[in-house]
Amino acid sequence: MKVMVAVKRVADAYVKVRAKSDGSGPDLGNVKMSINPFCEIGVEEAVRLKERGVAEEIIAVSVGSTASQEQLRAALALGADRGILINSGEQVVEPLGVARLLHRLLEREPCDLVLLGKQSIDGDNNQVGQMLAALWGRPQGTFASELSIDESGVQVTREVDGGLQTVALRLPAVVTTDLRLNEPRYASLPNIMKAKRKEIVEHSPDELGVDISAQMEVLKVEPPPQRQAGVRVESVDELVDKLRNEAKVIT
Ligand code: AMP
Repeated sequence: MKVMVAVKRVADAYVKVRAKSDGSGPDLGNVKMSINPFCEIGVEEAVRLKERGVAEEIIAVSVGSTASQEQLRAALALGADRGILINSGEQVVEPLGVARLLHRLLEREPCDLVLLGKQSIDGDNNQVGQMLAALWGRPQGTFASELSIDESGVQVTREVDGGLQTVALRLPAVVTTDLRLNEPRYASLPNIMKAKRKEIVEHSPDELGVDISAQMEVLKVEPPPQRQAGVRVESVDELVDKLRNEAKVIT
């Protein structure tokens, strides 16, 4: 079984990102960049499938500038076999563009399972997996917290409101990962060294015949309002009074 994992380069989850002073976008200058955490969970799941003898090959794919090679190398160090960079230069590719590119790639590199994160933590889109499944005409299991594979296909346990839902999908299929699917390992030093020798092939959106021009304009990016300092109240009566007459959240 061949598994494709989509990995996105995003600002590290532990970095506090600021908006640019002109409000045109996030200020990513000198910010530490990492693999999107949900994509890392996807890589880990693929590696576990390979360790169990279910997957034969893991291909990590990223859409982005040359800098995304860094995240592909990180995926290779975690256990992916080879990487593909779809080099979009400095152009920000919207979720539909990413889904179209992955779909075109799948026509060249047929895979049985495509693992994606449920969401990019920068754009919070939660769209690419779903769009890819629709373009590809294949079933999708989103927000996977458990995954098992047998001859009949893949079973995906999904975290839904108030419980868990298990769905059976025929392969090839698209699965997006939720936080509880697994805990990604750390790459070992020998594996980081080995990853340097693994292959990363580059394609361009033009070569794949996909128009990645923007269909959406970001009008403004602004930080959340500063939180006001709290006050200590002396009694429950005072608290109720403040909630009613100052905050006006109760009547
Ligand atoms: P999104 O729909 O943007 O929230 O992203 C969901 C998932 O799609 C991510 O976790 C990735 O697995 C994949 N994805 C989104 N953008 C990219 C990208 N530029 N390169 C590779 N994978 C991506």
